[in-house]
Amino acid sequence: MPVRSLLLAGACAVAVSGCAQLSSMTPGATPEVPPATQPARPVQWVRDVHSYARPEIAHVTHVDLDLSADFAAKSLSGTATLDVVGQAGATELILDVRDLDVRAVRDAQGADLAFGIGPAQEFVGSALTVDMPPLAAGETRKVVISYATRPEAAALQWLTPQQTAGGQKPYLFSQGQAILTRTWIPTQDSPGIRQTWSARIVVPSELKAVMSAEMLTPDGEPAGDGRTAYRFRMTNPVPPYLIALGVGDVAFEAIDERTGVWTEPSRLHAAHDELAPTAEMVDVAEALYGPYRWGRYDLLVLPPSFPFGGMENPRLTFATPTIIAGDRSLVALVAHELAHSWSGNLVTNATWDDFWLNEGFTVYFENRIMEAVYGPERAMMEQVLGWQSLEATIADLPPADTRLKLELEGRDPDEGMTDVAYEKGAFFLRTIERVVGRERFDAWLKGYFERNAFVPMTTEMFLEDIRAHLIKGDQQLEAQLMMDAWIYQPGLPSNAIAPTSDAFVPVDAAAKATFVDGAPPPRALWDGWNTQQRQRFLAWRPEGLQAGADWLTAAQLAALDEALDLSEEGNAEVRFAWLQIGLAHRYEPAAVSAEQFLLSMGRRKFVLPLFTTMWAEGDWGRALATRIYAKARPLYHPITTGSVDAVVGRPAG
Ligand SMILES: [Zn+2]
Repeated sequence: MPVRSLLLAGACAVAVSGCAQLSSMTPGATPEVPPATQPARPVQWVRDVHSYARPEIAHVTHVDLDLSADFAAKSLSGTATLDVVGQAGATELILDVRDLDVRAVRDAQGADLAFGIGPAQEFVGSALTVDMPPLAAGETRKVVISYATRPEAAALQWLTPQQTAGGQKPYLFSQGQAILTRTWIPTQDSPGIRQTWSARIVVPSELKAVMSAEMLTPDGEPAGDGRTAYRFRMTNPVPPYLIALGVGDVAFEAIDERTGVWTEPSRLHAAHDELAPTAEMVDVAEALYGPYRWGRYDLLVLPPSFPFGGMENPRLTFATPTIIAGDRSLVALVAHELAHSWSGNLVTNATWDDFWLNEGFTVYFENRIMEAVYGPERAMMEQVLGWQSLEATIADLPPADTRLKLELEGRDPDEGMTDVAYEKGAFFLRTIERVVGRERFDAWLKGYFERNAFVPMTTEMFLEDIRAHLIKGDQQLEAQLMMDAWIYQPGLPSNAIAPTSDAFVPVDAAAKATFVDGAPPPRALWDGWNTQQRQRFLAWRPEGLQAGADWLTAAQLAALDEALDLSEEGNAEVRFAWLQIGLAHRYEPAAVSAEQFLLSMGRRKFVLPLFTTMWAEGDWGRALATRIYAKARPLYHPITTGSVDAVVGRPAG
């Protein structure tokens, strides 16, 4: 389309480092060194309760990894060379580590530096304190840490061949968010301390390494003993949780000049076909909020145990295979991860208490991409589903956790990863958009990304920015927006407006007919609905339904299942929505279907609620949950098991 080439040309004029790669069809080498990216304004250090680092004294500006992967030992070992700057006279560097075996710390000349590892605290791990000779003003000091990761490193999942699609070769992937990077890289693991990085990763030659960075050696370099080394470089400073690694039997197929898909060879065709809209989404995103600043945008579709829907690792989004539905119906996830290239990766929450700045902005932006590519009706349906989910979350959570600005001291930051950050955050921005008008809102948001690029953001800095650049002292507007209520008060303020979608009107009518009168929708009606309409249908609950109460009879359930083949459903979102109903009614065919589903993937969004639903169903559900979890737990990532263990408990043995 002509519009596309125009956008690409426009992007080139600004995104210099991205331009260099547009000529290359492979996700590979660009020989010249792109200019280092400068933060848009001076960095203000913010106290992060989930990190031991004292960046105001000495902080890491660059991490250079040289690591070798040992699949038998489930360990990465080698060195991390840190560039450190700080106050003149600083003699101490404090890093974050958890479950890491640190063997030595040396200076650039190889002389040993004294170091100590403090007591381990739950979630945050330990402080690794390195004593150094006093830093000189303006000096960049190199500190070389020799270390090995342990098999239990929470960021790393070592998969057996049986856990992959190909079934022949092992696989490794990392997941750093929120505070897991410290289990595989000894650095200052706080989102407010941005670092450029580079890496050399040595793997068995039958495998390939990919990272969230520019690939300098797409074909690898011989490293002896049947091993191959891959080198990478990230010249934009990033929060350490965005350093990501995948190692496996993976292949690549381009979508367009700057987008493409990596996955296991047997899944490549299906994944490429499903994710083809990615190319247009990048163009649309740039047209909305300015240049894509990262060069390539590729996706790595992981084996099924990946615990999240997606992870916005720069240049290389990691994605669950559960979005490969065969009909592109779940590509909103790509829009979401792509949007993070601005909200999250470019402008980053300074601490996990400000997580809504990453996710609320991203859900807002995601929906704008969906609107531009698929039209307003589809976008509105997704908003309505988000609102529904948010209302349920608000009803469930303690009120303090329904404020946008969180207080997570002493808690796992994962506890802040709820619909509040995502959906309440997005509805807050939609409220601002509605009050000021889209044009003014978009101009402000584009400017917000420019003004705050590559610097950590707090909620308070956000308020300062929007007051300076959008509200500009307009007292009436300030009152209309109710920003403090949205951010610091629980629940939803009075200016929140529930979204509606005409596309759901016939769905709601059919849901009432089914769930009140017991008549399943005609198959032709169901077949004419898109995934969002099917989700809406299955999420219908009678008004005032008590927790634990049934809303269907056994006969109604069976009729519904038979009419729509729900227990056999292939779309993961629809299957999940059905299983939530079936399990809540102790419906045996749903138990069989749930077991199969829970053994087929480890995405926490599906796994945790299904086990929670079973657990609430007395002896029947507890026996079922215990039995399935004993089989499924070894297949899941530590992020997923960490959540499910809290519900079901660790299986014995
Ligand atoms: Zn996100």
